[in-house]
Amino acid sequence: MIKNLDIDIKSLPTPCYIVDERLLIKNLEILDSVQKRTGCKILLAQKGFSMHSVYPLVGKYLAGVTSSSLFEAKLGYEKMGKEVHIYAPAYIEEEFDEIMKYSDHIVFNSFHQWNKYKDKVRTSTKKISFGIRINPEYSELEHPIYDPCYKFSRLGVTLPNFKPEGLDGIEGLHFHTMCEQNSDTLERTIKVVDEKFGRYIKDMKWLNFGGGHHITRPDYDMEALVRSINYFQDKYGVSVYLEPGEAVALNTGYLVAKVLDIVENEMNIAILDTSAACHMPDVIEMPYRPNIIGAGKPDENPHTYRLGGHTCLAGDIIGDYSFVQNLKPGDRLVFCDMAHYTMVKNNTFNGVNLPAIALYNEKEGIRIIKQFGYEDFENRLS
Ligand SMILES: *Cc1c(COP(=O)(O)O)cnc(C)c1O
Repeated sequence: MIKNLDIDIKSLPTPCYIVDERLLIKNLEILDSVQKRTGCKILLAQKGFSMHSVYPLVGKYLAGVTSSSLFEAKLGYEKMGKEVHIYAPAYIEEEFDEIMKYSDHIVFNSFHQWNKYKDKVRTSTKKISFGIRINPEYSELEHPIYDPCYKFSRLGVTLPNFKPEGLDGIEGLHFHTMCEQNSDTLERTIKVVDEKFGRYIKDMKWLNFGGGHHITRPDYDMEALVRSINYFQDKYGVSVYLEPGEAVALNTGYLVAKVLDIVENEMNIAILDTSAACHMPDVIEMPYRPNIIGAGKPDENPHTYRLGGHTCLAGDIIGDYSFVQNLKPGDRLVFCDMAHYTMVKNNTFNGVNLPAIALYNEKEGIRIIKQFGYEDFENRLS
């Protein structure tokens, strides 16, 4: 149970995401230590964390960003201005010229995609490096929704579909097969990648290990990560890239919400001014149970409540928690680890407003970076 928070959140509007720069810097220093020890480059996967007000800070430590779309590429280009990489399962033809304008590395999901764009990219005056995503058909994930190697996966080229004759102009290979995993999984994965694709890697300039590396988690085994990076760099002379999203923002932010009402139906249920469906969709999708500061598991403390959102979705439930004191309307709850895969995924289902976004550092204290309103809801509809 996390007991307290050393930021005074009483002045914040609710709901509100707040990112603590001190914690973000701690993560960035850990990631930078990997770069310094191995010479690899680490990119922020914007898919997981696109809080661009901190991109200048992130850019002090990391080599740049990776993107899943034109918009993410543009955001990284404009707000960080370092290396921009992009990978998408398929590119939209009308967008490709603009994608080339922002990107330093473009990774294709298939040889069809590479063949479709290769004449265009060869005539470009900009120096862009091109890669192919491979599917080593090895992963240690149980949920197909997060497993790029499940049967019939559309993500990456498998060995039987790999076309060595089509590699002219390709300088790198990319694999992404992990999710929230430690480096023992990586060590087993790179063995398979090497066995299957080593003969092609030796002609490449770079190898991208994708994301899913939980590098900033306390029990992460850094030595095995360093060994894995060095293994490929030494064996094939390639530069290694990592592109974590979650590990950059892991445990760096909170979502502050307020109790609106308490209802009873064979148990006590608190209705909050936030919503799992709108503001923390991974709670339902993943699913998982976020920690709340000062709260425990059901019955661990005297007062147990089910926490639900204020949308009409019956399943808009965050989970069951116990508290030392009874909850009452107006009480504030602080959900932990809410910086990644939240702001980037939130929505205005039911016309629910988006949480405000705030930033904390020691020098400036709390700053509210952005608040949303009716216009944001209206602008996305017609
Ligand atoms: C999702 C994704 C990432 C980032 O994954 P995390 O789990 O947030 O580290 C990186 N690369 C690709 C290709 C991805 O799809």
